[in-house]
Formats: sequence, C-alpha cells, structure tokens
Amino acid sequence: MTCIVQKYGGSSVADVDKLRKTAGLIAGLKAQNFDIAVVVSAMGKTTDELVRMARDIASKPPRREMDMLLSTGERITMSLLSMALHERGFRAVSLTGSQAGIITNDRHNDAQVIEVRPFRVQDEMAKGKVVIIGGFQGVSYKRDITTLGRGGSDTTAVALAAALDAERCEIYSDVDGVYSADPSLESQARHLPELSYPVMQEMSTAGAKVLHSHAVQFAKEKNIAIYARSAFEPGRETVIRRISPGAIIGVQAVVSEKQVERIRLHGQDAHTLFRQAAEFLEGEQVPIKEVNVTGITAAGRHSKASFVVSTQNIYGWEQIKAALKHKIGDRMDIDTDLAALSLIGEGLNRNNLTLLETLDLLAQNMIPVSGITTTSFRISLLVPSQLVEKSVQLCHTRWVADNSI
Ligand code: ADP
Ligand code: ASP
Ligand code: MG
Repeated sequence: MTCIVQKYGGSSVADVDKLRKTAGLIAGLKAQNFDIAVVVSAMGKTTDELVRMARDIASKPPRREMDMLLSTGERITMSLLSMALHERGFRAVSLTGSQAGIITNDRHNDAQVIEVRPFRVQDEMAKGKVVIIGGFQGVSYKRDITTLGRGGSDTTAVALAAALDAERCEIYSDVDGVYSADPSLESQARHLPELSYPVMQEMSTAGAKVLHSHAVQFAKEKNIAIYARSAFEPGRETVIRRISPGAIIGVQAVVSEKQVERIRLHGQDAHTLFRQAAEFLEGEQVPIKEVNVTGITAAGRHSKASFVVSTQNIYGWEQIKAALKHKIGDRMDIDTDLAALSLIGEGLNRNNLTLLETLDLLAQNMIPVSGITTTSFRISLLVPSQLVEKSVQLCHTRWVADNSI
C-alpha cells in the first residue's frame, strides 16, 4: 500500500476544535486506503509556555531535563489526535519519537537524527492503524530523551518519510507554502511554487522558520520531495525537490534571523583566544558560525577574531556568556542587538553587484551593516535588530518585487 507521511504544525492542532478538523483531514485520506504516518507538533504555543516555565525556575536549566519537559508538548497532541480518530471510527495509535525509532546523537536541545528504526510504525500500519508520532523528539544511544531544536517536528516527518520509503512528505502549517519573505513581515511576499533543496536549505538556515533546516538537509540527502501546504486552506503548495542547477538565477527570497549575537575577540593572538572560546562553547554544546579571523599572529601585532552564535536553542545563554567573559576578560566584546539579514538565491556571487547595490540601499536608508558573509546561495549582512524588518522590506522590494524571476 502507498505510504504517506503528513506533519501538522502547532497552528493546525492549536485547540480541540482544530484537532477534530485535522482528524477529519486524516480520516479522509485513510478512507482512500493509504498507509498513513502523522507527525504532530505541540498544540499552539505550548512549547513556548514550557520554555517560560523552565526559565522561571532555573537560570540555566539542565539540558537533559529541558528535553524531558519540552517533549511532553507533542505527547499531548499525539494522544488527543489519536482519540479524535477513534471517535470517528478509525483505528489509530500514538507513539513517542523513541517508540517510533527516532535515534539521535546526545546533543540535548538540538540533537541530530542519526538513524530511524521504524519497525513499530510499520507493524502498526500493517494492522491498518493510522500511526501518530510525536515530532521534535527522539532517543539518544545513551537512552535519554532528546529534542531536535525548535521547529524540529519537520525533521521527524522527513526522516520518517525516508525510513518508510513514503511516496511523499506533506508539511502542513498556517501558510500555504514558502514565500519570498516571511508573509507576516512583508505583505508583498510572493508565493514560490517550487524550490530546490540548496535554496530552501539556505533559507531555513538563515531563519525562515517555515521549514526546519535539518528537515531540508535530510530531504536532500534521501531525495524526498517535501510538499509545504496550509492545513485548512487547501489550494497552493510549495514543492521542495531536486531542480537542475542554474534553472532559477538571482534573489529568490529575503530572510532574517533575530536571535543572533556576535562575539568579538581582540589582542595579540586572537587565534588563541578564538580557540579558547570555541573550545569552551563546544563544551557547552553551543554551535558557532560565520567565523572571521584577521590580523597577524606575530607577537606585538594586533589581531581580531569574531564569530556569530545563534541563541535560539540555548537555554542558559546568559550564564554561559558570563562564564566565557570571565575566561577571556576584556579581550572580548559581545554585540547583542544584531540580526542577520540574508538574500537567498542561486548564483548570487557570480559578480559583486547584488552585494554592492544592497550595501548602497541600506546606507541610503541609514541602516548600518556590521558584518558580511557570502556563499554561492546566500549574502548575509549583520544589521541592528530593530532595523531588520525594514531591511527585509527594502531588500524584498529591490530584489524580488521589482524583479520578475
Ligand atoms: P508550524 O508551527 O506549523 O511548524 P511555523 O510557525 O514553524 O509553523 O512556520 C510557519 C510560519 O513561518 C509562518 O506563519 C510564517 O510567518 C513563517 N515564515 C517565515 N519565513 C517564511 C517564508 N519565507 N515563507 C513562509 N512562511 C514563513
Ligand atoms: N513544538 C516544537 C516547537 O515549537 C517543535 C515543532 O513545532 O516543530 O519548536
Ligand atoms: Mg515549524
């Protein structure tokens, strides 16, 4: 029988009424004789509420306990959705990530899926049941519950789709696909019917939360097409799949990420300081990105190093920062009021025009840029966080709305 994996995000299961509606959608598909695995997120803003409670009780909550707590959100949804399907006369069973065979590494709060052993899911499907799986969670080889980072239910869905050899992976949220900018920030954002894996991956990594970046990475590796849709407003969709390189050139989307900070190191040997800081942060399981080291390391010469940290999945960041400051002393400064603005598309670094014009545009609008990185699919600029929305709108108007792709 053909297998389909569906994932319903927090907005599709936000309350009991929506859970009933979602059960109706699943029942409609099951009646067409598909094998169905449904991955669910926590209801509405449940995960945010759990994070707030943890922060109220501990300034640096133990990472393991954070995962025990956060994984409960999805357990509520999966059991209620299973009940709603039973009510409609369908056989359903809910499984935690661990029961569904989602095996991860032991990096709590931001774990990577390293293997999926979907035997239990397959057994239950073979009995004719709809299998509902709690997304965003797995179990480490040390047998502890882990979570996959905020937005990680998408990754559960794609990983399961690959392991079950599913015909397709459908991701349902409150938007009918992926747009050229976050439609809640930019009213002129364009719907994008089709995207390649690398472009979508750059978008997700740069902050477009509509799809989790690990999910896109998984889909790319296993060649799974992702169908991003709206649960309750069917019609349009975005398909993320393999597209020949070079088919679409130029800026396709403008994306931003607010929870970033930059650490700057300076002194006679910034390389050594950088190593100390990086080793310290690795011990705290804080990933670093966008590293920049300049200067000469010879004694007496000044050198500089800087790197960016995304703080979204770090729950004791203020404490970790204070400890790092204590270690490095006055040779370290931290910029906390920054955001990353990114232009995404293929072939952006074929020449420097996009970058230069963007810098001019931001300068004309009094938006200072304090850092630049480029890849062949992305130009990222650090701007003051209070000006990031304006920056997105300006760049979207210049590169997307005024250009026909
Ligand atoms: P879910 O809870 O269903 O996983 P998310 O809130 O994680 O849904 O993702 C959907 C949200 O992503 C949308 O409401 C939208 O505001 C935001 N978003 C950010 N960037 C984009 C984009 N480029 N295209 C579409 N949505 C985007
Ligand atoms: N509930 C988790 C979150 O809010 C995971 C997810 O929704 O994908 O981040
Ligand atoms: Mg999401």
